Amino acid sequence: FMMPSIVDKAPVLVAISSSGTAPVLTSKLKEMIEIMIPGSIDKLANLLGSYRARVKDTIANLDQRRQFWQDLLESEIPEMVYSGNEDAAIEAIEQRLRDRLQAAKTGRKMGEVYLVGAGPGDPDLLTLRALRLMYKADVVLYDRLVSDEIMQKLRPDADKIYMGKEQAKPSVGQETINEMLVRLAQEGKRVLRLKGGDPFIFGRGGEELETLAQAGVPFQVVPGITAANGCAAYAGIPLTHRDHAQSVRFVTGHRKDGSVDLNWAGLVAEQETLVFYMGLSKVAAICHGLRQAGLPDTWPIMLVANASQPEQQSLVGTLADMPERLAAQPLPSPCLIMVGSVVSMVAHSPAARLSQTQCWQQH
Ligand code: SAH
Repeated sequence: FMMPSIVDKAPVLVAISSSGTAPVLTSKLKEMIEIMIPGSIDKLANLLGSYRARVKDTIANLDQRRQFWQDLLESEIPEMVYSGNEDAAIEAIEQRLRDRLQAAKTGRKMGEVYLVGAGPGDPDLLTLRALRLMYKADVVLYDRLVSDEIMQKLRPDADKIYMGKEQAKPSVGQETINEMLVRLAQEGKRVLRLKGGDPFIFGRGGEELETLAQAGVPFQVVPGITAANGCAAYAGIPLTHRDHAQSVRFVTGHRKDGSVDLNWAGLVAEQETLVFYMGLSKVAAICHGLRQAGLPDTWPIMLVANASQPEQQSLVGTLADMPERLAAQPLPSPCLIMVGSVVSMVAHSPAARLSQTQCWQQH
């Protein structure tokens, strides 16, 4: 005889069992679930239950009905109930039903675009909002930088369209991407634009949003952990450690025309960490430019490839010897370049990804 632990917020009931293997784990899970579930989830469940028949009458199509309920749960309505404002919640649901009827009459139904940052690759670095929207989207337009493990977290039946993008040159032109986003949303779809890192850090997210705004397509932006933050955490480099740097600058090593013509003198500042995106093929030019602008030959530089993923690799050296080191041990793409005295905090050159604890123990 086994007793499952129960979280009872009738009509919502959660039963937890470890099939008799670990009763303490079961009570720990019960505690976690109790914390996670809002105290007045019962009120929300009852309210939704009272609308069930009407929503079914109003929206005959099963998919559309599921979308209606999902949108409602994503909206401000649950929060209204939890904060005791049930009248406002009822009014908001009524409004949604009226909008629904109106849309059915005019035949117009506008979808939505979610511009989501997927972080540097480790799926544990996705935000909760990113995960929620990933599970909601009907169509996904994704970039090369989005890892396979992250792709596995998408709704299984969602259409997935690869947008390529090597460096700044998209395999599918940016114009085409912008047009696709608008067209799919206008067809009533929930479109997920999934990008590596953060959509607004060298991600051309701004250009996509401009097009959406012009076309009157509603959108949401979800920030992601940018490669610089991912590399810093997984390689053990505090980008602005007080003893080393007072500022950090994100720079692209890649111009629109493919050259790397940066204002080197302007990049050399005391107590600053520089992070170069899209610079792997320009390492020699970057080292040369910075030395010419006055940084010492011995100035530390680190390259981190595939940060936060099991294949993470890195190289540590100086501005003078890094081009040679890289030639001897080429790194794959994507790769980030960090330059500055903070890099000296990495005692060894970890050939492969160390656990974060190991990496810090080496300091
Ligand atoms: N929006 C992204 C950056 C896109 S530009 C972000 O916020 O991270 C692409 C560049 O990002 C790559 O050339 C590389 O320099 C860097 N990058 C992205 N993911 C990375 C990773 N997992 N490891 C190392 N560098 C990465």
